[in-house]
Amino acid sequence: MNGRFAPSPSGHMHIGNASTALLSWLQIKNIGGKIYLRIEDIDPERSKKNYVNSIVEDLNALGLFWDGVVLFQSKRSSAYKLALDYLIRQNLIFACSCSKKEIRQTLWSKNASVNSYSGTCLNKGLSLDGPFTLRLKSWSSYPILRRYDKAWAYNFSTVIDDEYQNITHIVRGLDLKECAPLQNHFRSLLEYNSPRIYYAPIWCGPDKNKISKRHGDISIKDLLRKGWSPKSIIGLIAARLNLNSDSDACSPDALIDNYASYNWDKKVVSSNEVLSLWL
Ligand code: GLU
Repeated sequence: MNGRFAPSPSGHMHIGNASTALLSWLQIKNIGGKIYLRIEDIDPERSKKNYVNSIVEDLNALGLFWDGVVLFQSKRSSAYKLALDYLIRQNLIFACSCSKKEIRQTLWSKNASVNSYSGTCLNKGLSLDGPFTLRLKSWSSYPILRRYDKAWAYNFSTVIDDEYQNITHIVRGLDLKECAPLQNHFRSLLEYNSPRIYYAPIWCGPDKNKISKRHGDISIKDLLRKGWSPKSIIGLIAARLNLNSDSDACSPDALIDNYASYNWDKKVVSSNEVLSLWL
């Protein structure tokens, strides 16, 4: 039984990230497996080294420790290339020279269905070794695997690493649910195992929007600076997730047994519930 927490280092961790990390950690601790930390730093524009350090620091401060070494996606290009070559041999990939602007918009989109690309280059026979974006033939929106500048797409790299790390249990934010069909398609093309996937609730800010690290919403660091102790942050998350009946400070270890009754149907932690954080 192996789980992972796979943050993208595009900002400081916020309480929603910590809540997903806590759930993935508790799930695996409850069944006695291993939990890995994977840094999804494939996006050269958004990933920053200081955010990697910040995420690791916050997880450790909260008492969420990880097994083995941290896996960095930025060091995994050769594995992604091998998987790509396998799909090329199956005649499943084509090169696309469409505008950088359109490609930039779609690459990092985790929602395959918003990619409106209609397959303009499908039958052009462009060289797969040229300075072009590589796309998958066998999916409605022809999703990108690798951009013209050789940056890898999330939906492709993440399944390769889940297989590499032998991940059996995935806990990720509910906002990533739309990725599952495409990721499962990649898994079946690559003859990979299918992990079980669980969706952690989304945390919304006072404006009712999902809180986001990239938009500078209140971070774990802000809370620590305001005087919250790591255990009080865990206690608050546990209460909002109904892992605990009160929001008393507690360590992640103290919640391992409570996890057994966690209800995965919880979809959202509403703004009213977290409003108190901003006061
Ligand atoms: N790296 C993704 C994110 O931070 C999560 C990926 C996943 O759990 O599959 O949104």
